[in-house]
Amino acid sequence: MTEIIKNVKNPLPFYFFEQISKIPRASGNEKEVANYIVEIAIKHSLQYYIDEHNNVLVTKSASVGRENEDAILLQAHTDMVAEKNVATKHDFKKDPIKLLQNGNILSASGTTLGADDGFGVSIMLAILTDESISHPKLECLFTSAEEIGLVGASKFDYSKISSKKMINLDSAEENTVIIGCCGGIRTELTIPVSFTNGNYNGYKITIGGLCGGHSGEDIDRGRLNAHILMGKALEFLKDASFCSISSIHGGDKDNAIPRECELVIVPDDISLVDKKISMLDSYLRSFVKANEDKGIFVKAEKVNVNSVMSKEATNKLLKTLSLPNGVLTYREVAPILPNTSRNLARIRTNKSNVSIGFSSRAYLEKDLMVSVNTLNNLAIEIGGTTFHHEKYPGWQGEPSSSLVTNWQKAYNKACQGVTMPTLIHAGLECGLITAGVSGLNAISVGCNVHDLHTPMETMEIDSMDRIYDTMIEFLKQ
Ligand SMILES: [Zn+2]
Repeated sequence: MTEIIKNVKNPLPFYFFEQISKIPRASGNEKEVANYIVEIAIKHSLQYYIDEHNNVLVTKSASVGRENEDAILLQAHTDMVAEKNVATKHDFKKDPIKLLQNGNILSASGTTLGADDGFGVSIMLAILTDESISHPKLECLFTSAEEIGLVGASKFDYSKISSKKMINLDSAEENTVIIGCCGGIRTELTIPVSFTNGNYNGYKITIGGLCGGHSGEDIDRGRLNAHILMGKALEFLKDASFCSISSIHGGDKDNAIPRECELVIVPDDISLVDKKISMLDSYLRSFVKANEDKGIFVKAEKVNVNSVMSKEATNKLLKTLSLPNGVLTYREVAPILPNTSRNLARIRTNKSNVSIGFSSRAYLEKDLMVSVNTLNNLAIEIGGTTFHHEKYPGWQGEPSSSLVTNWQKAYNKACQGVTMPTLIHAGLECGLITAGVSGLNAISVGCNVHDLHTPMETMEIDSMDRIYDTMIEFLKQ
């Protein structure tokens, strides 16, 4: 049944994983995968509803004798983060993901794997089409564009849902049951800058080879942010001679910790900076804390530069790059869990401004607003503007609900293991969906997926098998 993934206990979910991996499904491009889900629904005579945002709801009637039980909502998102290695040739609009199996580990060749959230979609398709399992009425909601601000979930018509219990399949750790997540907001800070044209001697500095990762789930792992590190590089060089910025570029996705940054500078006296440049690599390496960042490289090459920003603009950017970044506060009750965080995700130099994308996260709205206000205040101070968008709510579930205990029992029975309720710093669609369906109680579960949102993304195959077994056991209850 499967073509690539071998030695699995439950071939059906892996079959679907292979099928959806053939369908390009980068965020914002979910039409084809949504149509595929509809095709499966039609083939299995299941009721479906598809909206103009490519959200799909498929309903499966209860097994015989279970018609009076409460319905269960299963939910996953169809889109995936499109990240690839610089050297990889891959068109996320048309190329299939090339799956690679190495023993128990599934990865992709040079790109994100899309186990986030392909594993959830595959498990739901398998549950919908597996005729051998016993279950109450099932509502399976496949949402679109989650990775670019929970877009599908924010636009779905929740009057279509009758379930009062939901399992979201979008977490990345087998041994936890998620009962709460952060809310978030994205901010675009625009700093007007003017350029002076000329013929200057400068340096192009590139920082790369950092691991990056998910700006929620990986924010407390001590991984370096390429932009923040570039700010340190600029401060270091400026000690020798003032360096005006010509351009700065880096990062791509607002929810990924940036792995690369490129800066072009014009020093007032380049001869004074030459010596410091030779020390830059070892200076920046001294900031590496996480093992995953050991692949860092720093390149500095002399270049001719045609235009340069004012010193004032350079200082404004330096101020922005030195804002506190990463975990800002930890939770009082559990000080190892991040409470609020900010990720300086993306920088672009445009004709008359520099635009900088941030994502802020917090469990509570009031904490989220602290981060927003910091950015607003900075904007006022440096004569810039902020635009806030894609705000979504946090979600606080019930640690002692029957959903949690039933999942724990099912996991224990199917896999002889223990799962613990916990909160995650990432955002999940649970906040929007529980706000949309009154009285809906939710948990979020998942299999072991590592290095999400990076080309290093991997999934443990036996873990997905165990989550499928647990799901079957859970639905049997
Ligand atoms: Zn996801």
